[in-house]
Amino acid sequence: MQYCPKCEIQIQGRKTCCPLCQGELTGEPGEHIYPPMRRNRMSGVSFYRIIHFVFIALEIVFASIGLLSGFSGWITFGMVITLLVWLDFWLVFYFRNNFLKLFTIEVYLAMLICLFVDYRWTGLRWSFEWMIPSAFLGLTVFTAIIAHVMHLKLEDYVIYVLWNALCCASQILPVLAGLNRTPYPAVIVTAGVLIYTAAILIFRTSSVKRASGKWLHL
Ligand SMILES: [Zn+2]
Repeated sequence: MQYCPKCEIQIQGRKTCCPLCQGELTGEPGEHIYPPMRRNRMSGVSFYRIIHFVFIALEIVFASIGLLSGFSGWITFGMVITLLVWLDFWLVFYFRNNFLKLFTIEVYLAMLICLFVDYRWTGLRWSFEWMIPSAFLGLTVFTAIIAHVMHLKLEDYVIYVLWNALCCASQILPVLAGLNRTPYPAVIVTAGVLIYTAAILIFRTSSVKRASGKWLHL
């Protein structure tokens, strides 16, 4: 065991100097108290750098092929898809510690992409009618399941419930505008989500109040 003659203390483990006076130690150094950390050759940061590099390189390759052979449909498609996957990767990295937020953002992104694809190529046939109602139904059910599994308090996730209800209710606008030719799913899902939200607002008022207090402080 090591010993500091100045402080008259014995020191366990293997130290280069006294932890109190930084003075020289006598005696035999022992084993390390904590096992030394093994250095990870592929650190988290460098892994993310590699991923970003691969995406940037892919975009450059697509752009070069596009410049040489013309920006055909699949080149543009490849560039857009690569960009979206890249953005999504960034999102996952950024919100990796908040699964519910990540899940919610992913669902909204998927809805926006489907809405765009439907608008651009199929003339708003299936998104308002089937995709968005199912997405909001899934979002509401899975938010409740995730909150239950992760033991979240209502005041911590009620903002998601309210936000989803508000966005879900906006489906009524295309119905009113006559853009949705099969309005049953949209109307039924919106009614269900609004009833669920009303139940939370009325029967769990204290949690909602605590949550709104928190947001006001922020
Ligand atoms: Zn000392």
